[in-house]
Amino acid sequence: MARTLIVTGGSRGIGAACARLGARAGWSVCLSYRANEAAAAAVVHEIEQAGGRALAIASDVSSELNVTDLFDRAEKAFGEVTGLINNAGILASASTLANIELSRWTATLATNLTGTFLCAREAVRRMAVSAGGAGGSIVNVSSMAAVLGAPSEFIDYAASKGAIDALTIGLAKEVAADGIRVNGVRPGLIDTGIHESSGDPSRAKRLAPTVPMQRTGTTEEVARTILWLLSDDASYCTGVTINVSGGR
Ligand code: NAP
Repeated sequence: MARTLIVTGGSRGIGAACARLGARAGWSVCLSYRANEAAAAAVVHEIEQAGGRALAIASDVSSELNVTDLFDRAEKAFGEVTGLINNAGILASASTLANIELSRWTATLATNLTGTFLCAREAVRRMAVSAGGAGGSIVNVSSMAAVLGAPSEFIDYAASKGAIDALTIGLAKEVAADGIRVNGVRPGLIDTGIHESSGDPSRAKRLAPTVPMQRTGTTEEVARTILWLLSDDASYCTGVTINVSGGR
């Protein structure tokens, strides 16, 4: 069976860590990105230097056409897609809900939620055993914001992640008998470039003392949990979302 893995937003941060770890676990990795071609190429280069197989594709997760094209190209390069990590996500600047413009709300949901829906839908259509597929495993990247709510910062982002948690539960039940597992992770404060979008690049470090473990998490710590859920080691897990948040 082909072991082709798509990691959306695999050019940086948590996605890049998933791409590296996935390649080390034997997956052929197709990583998507939105704009930063150089960062995506660097991850591919690193994986290939280590003896793995990887391909980077510019593909906006909020575009139906881009998502179909992403899966087509991944399959053409490496064979049937049996793994998907729905990781691409964006965060806008810290704001109260009263000051969130509709355009920002729509953009956040388009990438975080609609992107997850479009990629999950494409994966299920191809993986479903009843449709001739080989089955597979999907991991959705949520956030602790889904349960904390992100007041005075990013309620739009928190709402998009809460909806992803509901999607994980529903889709897991819907496709369990079709050979597909669907799980999720909720990262806490992880030190990546995403915090720059909040207007405070040091946000993760600044808030670290509020975490019970008193530190931020690493991208590798999140990626290890994601790759475990993706793997056959988690063969009886579906519909689960695991907090990777140092107790936050
Ligand atoms: P990051 O460092 O900002 O990386 C984001 C990645 O997503 C980049 O590869 C980016 O591509 C890609 N991307 C953004 N919009 C896209 C789109 N429309 N289509 C395709 N790719 C797109 O973010 P991160 O911190 O690693 O976050 C990864 C995931 O973890 C997100 O879902 C985020 O919400 C979640 N998360 C992060 C934290 C944290 O503390 N870091 C906490 C909880 C949850 P380009 O390189 O081209 O821009």
